Amino acid sequence: MNIDASMIEKIVRNVLEEILDQSNNHKDDNKFGVFHNMDDAIDAAWFAQKEFEKCSLTRRSEIIQAMREELSRNVEDFAKMGAEETGMGRFEHKILKHKLAIEKTPGVEDLKPEVSTGDGGLTLYEMSPFGVIGAIAPSTNPTETIICNAIGMLAAGNAVVFSPHPGGKRVSVLAVETINKAIEKVNGPKNLVVTVKEPTIESTNIMLKHEKINMICATGGPGIVKIALSSGKKAIGAGAGNPPALVDETADIEKAAKDIIDGCSFDNNLPCTAEKEVIVVDCVADQLKSCMRNYYGFEIKDQELLHKLENLVLNEKGMIKKEFVGKNADYIMKQIGIVINSSIKVIFAEVEKDHPFVIEELMMPILPIVRVKDIDKAIELGVKVEHGNRHTAIMHSKNVDNLTRFAKAVQTTIFVKNAPSYAGIGFGAEGHSTFTIAGPTGEGLTSARTFTRKRRCVLSDGFSIK
Ligand code: NAD
Repeated sequence: MNIDASMIEKIVRNVLEEILDQSNNHKDDNKFGVFHNMDDAIDAAWFAQKEFEKCSLTRRSEIIQAMREELSRNVEDFAKMGAEETGMGRFEHKILKHKLAIEKTPGVEDLKPEVSTGDGGLTLYEMSPFGVIGAIAPSTNPTETIICNAIGMLAAGNAVVFSPHPGGKRVSVLAVETINKAIEKVNGPKNLVVTVKEPTIESTNIMLKHEKINMICATGGPGIVKIALSSGKKAIGAGAGNPPALVDETADIEKAAKDIIDGCSFDNNLPCTAEKEVIVVDCVADQLKSCMRNYYGFEIKDQELLHKLENLVLNEKGMIKKEFVGKNADYIMKQIGIVINSSIKVIFAEVEKDHPFVIEELMMPILPIVRVKDIDKAIELGVKVEHGNRHTAIMHSKNVDNLTRFAKAVQTTIFVKNAPSYAGIGFGAEGHSTFTIAGPTGEGLTSARTFTRKRRCVLSDGFSIK
């Protein structure tokens, strides 16, 4: 057989490709950023970030745009799979949440340099990437968080390693794969966004301690935020909320009722920003409840039934039972033998101010209503039940003084006036969107600039051209 030089070259190339493929396969089984092993995932992201660092801002923007387009094509899959896998929330609302994350999370344009010039010359402040970010996502918004974190973190020039909640691992894998496919389509670096196929507490711990992880971003309950803040790395903590919605006598009561029901029932109350309790002044409380009944609210007046509901959704310590988080109102009522129409969005009941429904972050469409004498008592209670989370508060009022007093007193990251809570994350309102609201560490509504290091570049005695 005659073998010429070109054939030898071809054979050698094939063998080399196969060897390379095998070693990649060991690390990267399905090629789209999903690994068996957390160490391998982090290594791959680290290499990807080194390549990404060389890309121009225009290139970064192209990659972000490609991600938005590919993610948009898969919104229905994320919503369907997310609802099925987690068993929480509503398909139609998950579509809206994903669209919001894809369309309203800021990209590269969020990185605004600052400059100062004077007799001494010119000093420039630039926003540089941290490197590789370890991001922990909650079960309540698994892919919405992955999408908004990935857009912001990549726009800032980082790579990201996701540690999803095990309860949402399949849909999280789909999101990571979709993002990688989009990046590959425009020939961007492989493995800029990675995860593990089987996320566990152990794999999260590996990530938290890994020397190649430069920053941690934890979105979840108080436990994981505390763990992230003890990691010894720069950490962003986006923790629990328990948003109160206050209603005073000057509010448009009919609108307040509709807004409260809409906000509270959004994705069956899963968002950390959603209304978790209503505090209403006595003189308008009956009217508010009547309007809420007219607008797909089901009121429980019978105390025995209320006890049954408490025993159903709370354990003996008064804490929520996870199996009822994000379930439909009619499903919850059926478990205590009451059939209500599936169009009912929220179950509500008047309770005392220290009722566990008020104190606990329920994350289900059950809304406690507390009646108070006046606005002073409403503000006092609103501050108390927000628990110092500094997360979200809502108020329905036309009295600017009352609005200002509550906003000042409650000190939340998001304060929504006369709208459903979701206006606070840019849905039907101005402002960018995020699913990582960093109250505890103070970054607020995170965006690309949150995931940067601020650097100073000094040109002494030059380029001040005043
Ligand atoms: P969770 O705290 O149970 O889980 C969040 C994440 O942390 C998951 O990925 C989970 O696997 C991980 N985790 C939890 N404990 C861990 C441990 N000991 N070691 C390693 N990893 C651990 O929260 P959840 O039920 O998934 O989500 C709901 C909570 O998240 C609510 O309290 C809600 O308010 C909060 N949340 C906050 C924001 C925000 O932006 N501030 C956004 C969404 C959800």
